Parts: sequence; structure tokens; C-alpha cells
Amino acid sequence: MTPASLPVDPFDLVIFGGTGDLAVRKLLPALFHRYVAGQIRPASRIIGVAREPLDDDGYRAMVRDALGKAATDLPQQCDDFLALIGYRPLDARKDEGWDGFAALVGERPDNIRVFYLSTSPELFVDICERLGKYGLNQGASRVVLEKPIGRDLASANKINDDVGRVFAESQTYRIDHYLGKETVQNLLALRFGNALFEPLWNASHIDHVQITVAETLGLGRRAGYYDRAGALRDMVQNHMLQLLCMVAMEPPASLSPDAVRDEKLKVLRALKPIDGDNAAQLTVRGQYRAGASEGQSVPGYLDELDGGKSSTETFVALKAEIGNWRWAGVPFYLRTGKRLPERVSEIVVAFKPVPHSIFEGSVGALAQNKLVLRLQPDEGVKLWLTIKDPGPGGLRLRHVPLDMSFAEAFGVQQPDAYERLILDVVRGNPTLFMRRDEVEAAWRWAGPILAAWAASNEPPRPYTAGSWGPSAAVALIERDGRTWHEDND
Ligand code: NAP
Repeated sequence: MTPASLPVDPFDLVIFGGTGDLAVRKLLPALFHRYVAGQIRPASRIIGVAREPLDDDGYRAMVRDALGKAATDLPQQCDDFLALIGYRPLDARKDEGWDGFAALVGERPDNIRVFYLSTSPELFVDICERLGKYGLNQGASRVVLEKPIGRDLASANKINDDVGRVFAESQTYRIDHYLGKETVQNLLALRFGNALFEPLWNASHIDHVQITVAETLGLGRRAGYYDRAGALRDMVQNHMLQLLCMVAMEPPASLSPDAVRDEKLKVLRALKPIDGDNAAQLTVRGQYRAGASEGQSVPGYLDELDGGKSSTETFVALKAEIGNWRWAGVPFYLRTGKRLPERVSEIVVAFKPVPHSIFEGSVGALAQNKLVLRLQPDEGVKLWLTIKDPGPGGLRLRHVPLDMSFAEAFGVQQPDAYERLILDVVRGNPTLFMRRDEVEAAWRWAGPILAAWAASNEPPRPYTAGSWGPSAAVALIERDGRTWHEDND
């Protein structure tokens, strides 16, 4: 792979939805950081597009605000970065203004073109058709699709078909920002760059895997979208299954995009079905009630929906299994939710206990070895080991984490996942993006769970905001004699 600090070829990045939350909070700051790192050449352009009637200077002022302290700390670099930025007011659904937009993009025919669709997916087809009409899909041209890619298999296929009429699969980058996180790439380095782990990475040595993505936030501004989606569609079908694939896939023959994605696809296809026959045993869905979050009283989900009725789940815990030789019998426990006690995303690989203890009970319990990969808030890896408690007084055992917090260990600022991923699009490297068949396979697995829930007519179980979800989620793992990982285990 290209070292992170090499400049990329000049590009035009058009952000449809350039005034939206994602663009302002994530994409533009990510681009600024890469500019400061020297990776974006001055011949590049970043063009925001939305309906709001701004001119270039108005948009630059918005971007400067979005950069906040980074802009005030680096005033000259901020001015130089803003000089690359422009804006075009356009309605994706109307023809007006597109001639001028096409002419603007056409001014730099040699630049790589990236069209980042940071809008609701309902606009994808309008935008792509117009890009196609003006021939902007030709040559070194790419389109980036934000999640959600559909709400089920049929709607995902429709989006992919619509986009696919204009952009070839090789030009289409379905972004899942979890895959751009340092820790996820470090999982590849740990698994395939060390002789230590891979021989143990199977059902003979691994007891189970846990993947947790916990948020403290409630609905916020996303009520309209979220209530139609729910936690399974918003988190499990995409981010969490992608993480599961990175843990479970076979070693790819190389890091070439299709080698990696072929292996992930095999995992998705090997997931055992969860449907009407077993969903009640293998899944728990919840919805938060009023409670406390980070020391503040917070309303329940239905109150946030203005007292509306909803059976949308804000929490899911489930037990997945991969039906292949490597993983048969190893549970993968997945858990995600809103209004949980802390914001944390982590993968826990729990190894089997030692087969026989030579120690007497009085020296302390032998705990499982665990590899804990934390994606947020602080990316890092901990390997939990048993050692002798240092000092005199006889042999006592202690379970301690071997800690590798990257930022401290290597003295580097953690790049945001979007920094890496946007430049991967410019470089034409789709390894960390989802291929169409992966999205389809993920929906094929998630669809029957949603159908089973809908058919059961049971409402989601209530949980108090600020707790770890319904008690049934604890029971789900404890029935198997295991517990959810806590950092002070
Ligand atoms: P948002 O804040 O609602 O922004 C939507 C953007 O689209 C605005 O710039 C809006 O500007 C523009 N837009 C709306 N209708 C348009 C039209 N007809 N023609 C042209 N532009 C139009 O949404 P967001 O939070 O940025 O999210 C964008 C997409 O990314 C969504 O699909 C979301 O699910 C996904 N996503 C968001 C996040 C996040 O952290 N926000 C994370 C992951 C995925 P005007 O109204 O001025 O046109």
C-alpha cells in the first residue's frame, strides 16, 4: 500500500451535500488534515454542492468555521486550503445550473474526479443520472456512496442498479468508515504480520468473540432517519458485520482489493441464518426509556420522537455463528445501542482457558487471555495476560493488559478514518470499501432477522438510558457461561 504521507495526484472532489453535517463535521476537516500533511497538491479542487444559495466565499467561511481551532492554529495553511475550495448551488432534482457545474468540472480534464454523495440515498439516482448525462462519469472518475445502502436487499439492489447504470463497479466506493480506522488495519497487521496469532486464530483456541459499538447519544437530529432504520440496519448490517469479517476472514493471498473482499464475502455467506425459528433465542432488541446519561437526566426514545409510537430498536444484542471449519461452534456476540453508559467500540477476542492449572486456588484465578482491539474513543490494542504479581510474599497471579495505545506509543496523532478513506478513493484503492456482493450478502443475513422481529409482534424490551441495555442482553451471553467484557476484568 502507498505510504500515507505521499502526495496524491491532483483531484477534483465534489461533495454533494457539502453543507451537511457529515461534510462539515468530518469530510472537510479530514481533507484539511491531509492538506496540512502535504498530501493534497495545489492543483486539486474541493467543490461543495447543495441547494443553499451560497457563493464560493460564503462556503469558504462555513468551512473555516468547521475547521475551528485547527484553522486558527494554522492560519496560512488554512488560507491556502480554502483557496482550493469552491461551491455550486444545485438541486440534485432539477436541471437548472448543471450546465455551469459540468463546465466547472470540465476545466481540469486531467484531474481525478471524485463525486462524494454525502446526501440522503434518495438523491443518488438523480445525481448519478445527471453526472452521466454530462459525461462526468468518464475517465478517472469515481463515486463515493455513504451509508445507508438501502433498508433491505431489494432497496439496496435498486440503489446499486441505479448507480451502476452510470458508474461501473470499479468506480463505485461504498464507504464504511469503520474500515478506515487504524485499529481495524492494525488487526490485519497483527493477524498477518506476526507468527504469533494466526496459529491460534480458530475454534480450537478461541472461545468466543465480542463486538461492541456503544453510543451515549440519543436520537439527536437524526430522528427521521433513525426511526425508519433502527440499530440493526444502522450499525449491525454494515459496520459490525464488516468488523466481524475482518476478525474472521481467512488470510487473503495478498492485500489486493479483491483478494481481501473475496475473503470477507466468504465470511458473510457462511453466517448461519437467524430467522423466525431462532431469532427469539439468538437476538435481543431494546428501546431506551428515560434515564441518565453522563450525569444528566435524559428523555426516553419515544419522548424524543415527540411522544410518538415506535417499535424501532435502539439496542441489539445477538449471537452469530460462522458455519465453516475455522469457526464452527465459536459464538460471535454483537452488541450495539444508543444511550449506553459509555461511548466505546471494541472487538474482544477471548481465548480458551489453559487446559490444566498447575496453580493452587490460593494464588488467584486463571483468567482467559483476551485480545482487545479498541476503535473508539482511544484507538489501541490490549493483550490480557496472566503474570506473577511482582514482589516478595510468594506466588500470586495477576491478570494484566499489555497495552499498546498507539498515539502514546508512536507519538502520532490518530488520523480520522475519513482521512485515509478519501485519499484511498483518489488513489483508486477500493480495498477498504464494500463491494456490491458484500452489501447484498449482509442484507441477505440481516433481512430474516428483521422479518422475524416484525412477525413476532413483540415490542422491543425497555432499558433505562445509561444502562447496558435490557437484562436479556446480559442473559444472552451469561446463559453460555460468559460475560460481556469490562475493561477492568
Ligand atoms: P444532512 O446534514 O441532512 O445534509 C444533507 C445535505 O444534502 C445538505 O448539504 C443538504 O443541503 C443537501 N441536500 C439535500 N437535498 C438536496 C438536493 N435536492 N440537492 C442537493 N443537495 C441537497 O445529512 P448528513 O448528516 O450530512 O448525512 C448525509 C448522508 O450521509 C446521509 O445519507 C447519512 O445517513 C449519511 N451519514 C451521515 C453521517 C453523519 O455523521 N452525519 C455518518 C454516516 C453516514 P441543502 O438542504 O442546502 O440542499
